[in-house]
Amino acid sequence: MSVTFLSGGTGTPKLLDGAMQEVDELSVVCNTGDDVVLSGNLVSPDVDSVLYTLAGEIDRDTWWGVERDSYHTHEALTQSGRRVERVESQRPLGEERAFGGDGEFMRIGDRDRALHVVRTSAVDSGASLTEAVQRCADWLDVDERFTVLPMTDDAVSTYVHTPEGPMHFQRWWVAEDGEPPVEDVDFHGAGRAGATEAVEAALQQPVVVGPSNPVTSLGPMLSVAGLREALREARVAAVSPFVDGEVVSGPAAELMEAVGLPPSTEGVYRAYEDFLDVLVVDGSEAGDIEVDCTVVATDTILERREDAARLTREVAAALDLSNTY
Ligand code: GDP
Repeated sequence: MSVTFLSGGTGTPKLLDGAMQEVDELSVVCNTGDDVVLSGNLVSPDVDSVLYTLAGEIDRDTWWGVERDSYHTHEALTQSGRRVERVESQRPLGEERAFGGDGEFMRIGDRDRALHVVRTSAVDSGASLTEAVQRCADWLDVDERFTVLPMTDDAVSTYVHTPEGPMHFQRWWVAEDGEPPVEDVDFHGAGRAGATEAVEAALQQPVVVGPSNPVTSLGPMLSVAGLREALREARVAAVSPFVDGEVVSGPAAELMEAVGLPPSTEGVYRAYEDFLDVLVVDGSEAGDIEVDCTVVATDTILERREDAARLTREVAAALDLSNTY
């Protein structure tokens, strides 16, 4: 049997780094709400963090980009005076997420950019996003035991609402350093997006929601028609991204408050409670939460690959998958 992970771009890739040694096969359904068209290419940050992790190329300090990449093209594009602006795009999957001009606001390495070219060429020549991601996995020689899937083949874009107006999540988080206060979050295009056959098949298996941001990593996924319903039928464990009352990194707490969830493990539970069977929390959080599912308290700080391998074994045991590992 294989296991399916639901992933954003930091916490769950850290877990996958150990899980890939522990399981026979795994599928990863990735958030694409952060995707942008930038410098002419379709950039898919969470998909790429997962691909680089499974290919053994991830930069383990940042959990994005390729280890020891060079930045020649990025440096040329960010010399003083280079500008980047939102544009309307006719390109496939470019709707509501395209940036033009002669600069770029994300730090994109040269090898990383090559992967974006592979993806964009595939999509421009008519491949679905699922097919394009598979081409990226092949290009990186990702082991055939691992399947990486975008959450949908349709364009879903995460927007945060700020006093300066709505802005694409990547613009808010990367270009604006996450500084404008967030009043709400929504997912443009979600009403038209459907689950792919590949994702529906992956959700027939036991599911692990990694320690990802419930609002902007899992939120876009759960907004895709059919996904939440499929999860209700599956056996699902989720790992909380909170340790000692705080998130380990990133803006999850602020964004949870913005959408009316408590910024805590309890808020994580509330985001998933209709489909959750097992909640895995850090030992520092045990005892503080009242939930109607199995709770496993353990050490969830993922500093080394061995931490992630151990946590995978514990999650598997809680899901009663021990004989499949
Ligand atoms: P994003 O796409 O970069 O936002 O990545 P994710 O949504 O996958 O991951 C962000 C979440 O990972 C944050 O809310 C962090 O609290 C969580 N996280 C990062 N490192 C760890 C860790 O070592 N342990 C746990 N439990 N959570 C972590």
